[in-house]
Amino acid sequence: MPERRGRPTKAIQASILKRQRHLCNACARPFSECGPVEWDHWQALSLGGNNGPGNWQALGRPCHRTKSARDLGMKAKAERIARKLAGAWPKAKRPLKGRGFDKRFIQPVIGRPYLKAQYIDGSGVERESKRRNPQ
Ligand SMILES: [Zn+2]
Repeated sequence: MPERRGRPTKAIQASILKRQRHLCNACARPFSECGPVEWDHWQALSLGGNNGPGNWQALGRPCHRTKSARDLGMKAKAERIARKLAGAWPKAKRPLKGRGFDKRFIQPVIGRPYLKAQYIDGSGVERESKRRNPQ
């Protein structure tokens, strides 16, 4: 059960601002440039974070928006993984099918410069090439 949202106490706010030297913790610009101060959970509550003083950071509004969007994406991914692990992964009714590959056209693997390379032509006849292979 995640902890309730909220904001840090005034004393904690002051210590966070001091710790961050009054700069946005995302873009390192002063709040006069980044935007008004907002209090962010460094690790989102929905992702297991807590309301402890060490989990708070001060962000300017635009940086906070960006981070919140990222947190939402991470939460959605965490939920997808949880559903997958619970065995609820959506399965296709009809599996994808490849169109196959004609193995007659596979050339033997050739190493470094080589004088003769074997290959099988379209009619299935083994042939040798005298061409030097690049590298
Ligand atoms: Zn910022």
